[in-house]
Amino acid sequence: MKKSILLLVTIILITGCSKPEIKTTIENNDALVSINYPVTNINALDDAVSTYVNQTYNNFKKSYKHLTKPELNITYTYKELNDDVINISLNTEINADKNINKIKTFTYDKKTKKFLSMEDIVDDLDALDYDIKKALLEKYQEADMDFLSNVNYDYFTIDDENLTIYLGPAELKSQGNEIIYLDIPLNSLKMLIDIDKSNGSDNYINIKKRDINYDDHIVALTFDDGPSKYTDKILNILKKYDACATFFVIGNKVDFYDETLTKMLKNGNEIGNHSYSHKWLNRLSKEEFEEEITKTQTEVQKATGFTPKLFRPTYGGYTNKLKSYTDLTFVLWDVDSSDWKVKNKDKIINNIIPNVKDGSIILMHDNHEYAVNALEDVIKKLQEKGYKFVTVSELLELKKIRENE
Ligand code: ZN
Repeated sequence: MKKSILLLVTIILITGCSKPEIKTTIENNDALVSINYPVTNINALDDAVSTYVNQTYNNFKKSYKHLTKPELNITYTYKELNDDVINISLNTEINADKNINKIKTFTYDKKTKKFLSMEDIVDDLDALDYDIKKALLEKYQEADMDFLSNVNYDYFTIDDENLTIYLGPAELKSQGNEIIYLDIPLNSLKMLIDIDKSNGSDNYINIKKRDINYDDHIVALTFDDGPSKYTDKILNILKKYDACATFFVIGNKVDFYDETLTKMLKNGNEIGNHSYSHKWLNRLSKEEFEEEITKTQTEVQKATGFTPKLFRPTYGGYTNKLKSYTDLTFVLWDVDSSDWKVKNKDKIINNIIPNVKDGSIILMHDNHEYAVNALEDVIKKLQEKGYKFVTVSELLELKKIRENE
């Protein structure tokens, strides 16, 4: 019997622009660790950011080693305010015996080779102080201004519309550990630097389609925790062998790899959702979980025009309750390469090849080089055994057709 599954030809959107590399570290040993931050190739800025990240990581490791599965989650925002000035904010969340949430901001001027503070960016700090208090009252009617002891301008981001100020428990002397953010419209401020608005030129491409036969022995490669600078190499290897994979991307990084994501689709791969900031999902409220999903969907749509249908839970952990909060299909795996753990080509190959059967889903990671090194051999060996590579959606569809026979 011959039946075919066709991937629909879809019009997708691409935008292009040069971006920093996003470095990702994910660990699931004694602790759950997810760290994402940009690397700009500007030494002073990269040193400051990586020093802060390493200090945070080392302190976390030291402080919580007696606990089971404490979680460290570091995400970022990145914005080129104009041709010279870059603003990077790191958001650190620690979930352990207590919850800690803090923001650290770096604003760097490439031209003067100096880190900028708010004084260098906004002209009248008294006026800004007034705007902040006004915004605080508008947003939090119950806010007591006496609590606003000493406004700290160290933590902020800037987008096309707003200067966003983050106030932590220290500034507000509040009981909770929540970070409060306040949007101050840029047009209400006298700025000392020019802020360029985002721009992007759009154009369109077609996705290629693939035939799968009913009796094919199929296998799906999946890559988590990207995109990264390694993803492009993986795409080239897949293309060389006419293979494909499904990439479960971290939404927070997508904007920096829009061309890589477009290439994924162009080459017949699939993109899935791996949350926005790689938190341990079981700790999240319904709203927080939905936000993790929705923000990634939006990022992928913005970068490619494609809407993911699949979701891979971070650390492979989820509850049925979480599952009921989204229409996306949850996808785990039955073959684990443990590439991030064994860090060795032969071990990775050995974790995969003997365990693959018809319909297997293989877990790999595209945020480090280990998977790249092993991939060529993995593909060759599986093709020698007669396997055909399909995307996860194609695999699920063929399984459904087979079950209904
Ligand atoms: Zn992951």
